Amino acid sequence: MKILLVDDEAFALRLVGRQLKQLGFTEVVAHQHAAEALALIEGNLSAADVILLDLQMPDIDGIEFVRHLARLQFTGGLILISGEDERVLQTASGLARAHSLDVLGAIHKPVTPQQLEALLRAPLARGGDARAARKSYAPETLQQAIASGHLVNHYQPKVELATGRLVGVETLVRWEHVDDGLVFPDQFITCAEDNNLIDELTRAVLLEALRQARVWADAGLSLHVGVNVSMDNLAALDFPDFVANATRAAGVPSRNLVLEVTESRLMTNVLATLDILTRLRLKYVGLSIDDFGTGHSSLAQLRNIPFDELKIDRGFVHGAAFDKANAAIVEGSLNMAHQLGMKAVAEGVEDRSDWNLLRALGCDYAQGYFVSRPLAPAAFETWRHEWELRRADLAPA
Ligand code: C2E
Ligand code: MG
Ligand code: MG
Repeated sequence: MKILLVDDEAFALRLVGRQLKQLGFTEVVAHQHAAEALALIEGNLSAADVILLDLQMPDIDGIEFVRHLARLQFTGGLILISGEDERVLQTASGLARAHSLDVLGAIHKPVTPQQLEALLRAPLARGGDARAARKSYAPETLQQAIASGHLVNHYQPKVELATGRLVGVETLVRWEHVDDGLVFPDQFITCAEDNNLIDELTRAVLLEALRQARVWADAGLSLHVGVNVSMDNLAALDFPDFVANATRAAGVPSRNLVLEVTESRLMTNVLATLDILTRLRLKYVGLSIDDFGTGHSSLAQLRNIPFDELKIDRGFVHGAAFDKANAAIVEGSLNMAHQLGMKAVAEGVEDRSDWNLLRALGCDYAQGYFVSRPLAPAAFETWRHEWELRRADLAPA
């Protein structure tokens, strides 16, 4: 496992370097200047499997460094180290997670070998390689996969916190790849966006989701079905008509469809986007602002766009019961949602403490591994039965 150490203090570098050596890690590169470390990663994303990063550095501080790692789409593990107070460390970790970086943990200085070992155990268990096998795919292969139906939808349940009632699902696309198995969207959505394939992809996902919604409706299950759309989808002026036609053809009320929007890339044409989103609302299609709080979804959008649901990013949700700052952000976001007449959804509810806190705060809906992982449609019924059994305990009347 290749480890990159970045700390402006020579003493800290030597100390942690020695500790790592004693733990049996031999491929350790240390940099006292953040800029040099960054150049190394910039030149070769695989130069490090895990980065140990000091937050307080003179030239590029840890937060800036994290921002660059996110820009480079660094997929290795990250451990943050700081002499600052606990809150700074927690906030920085939250920030890095919100950037989708794989944060293995945070350590308060002075670093101990026990702490290092504990945090490095997880990536070691994954075969010494911290990154999930990540490949980049050629646009032609992706296009072929879309055309030949190799993209499949999984569905993650969304439940009402007060009652535990199942209210809907979020559609999450996966690629059933002949060689690589199930490939997750973070490995191909950007490729689709960059190569003009996102319209085709979204339309395929949406049509399949509506077909599934109809199957559920026919079985007596009326569910809200969320579908993620990219900003690029909201540049095609015929998109609202496509959506309206598709819901009509599937026989699904447009109110049961919720489009989840993230400002993952800049709105290149603000007027067209507003035009499209407003027309979707006029057609009673639900609009949800996704990953709220990550900076992709700015407050200004809430004022300008008639959203009816706000999804609080999982970076703030999980562990909020033990983190005052995250709890404040969650509470603030959901109060704002309610004041604007929107429903609030907490993403990334991973354990009972997350669940209890959100219930206590009066959040409307929860989504996350604690309720269920995203499911293949065939697994949905079994989950529903299991959930009915857990529900009484989790949401007592
Ligand atoms: P998202 O819309 O924010 O979706 C939630 C992501 O969080 C999903 O990852 C889901 O599996 C994951 N997740 C759910 N519960 C938990 C939890 O308790 N803990 C943790 N750590 N994670 C949880 P997934 O499926 O890998 O999707 C990643 C992103 O890819 C989605 O983020 C969405 O932005 C994008 N995406 C997925 N499907 C589509 C699609 O059809 N079109 C577009 N444009 N984007 C899509
Ligand atoms: Mg979403
Ligand atoms: Mg989200």
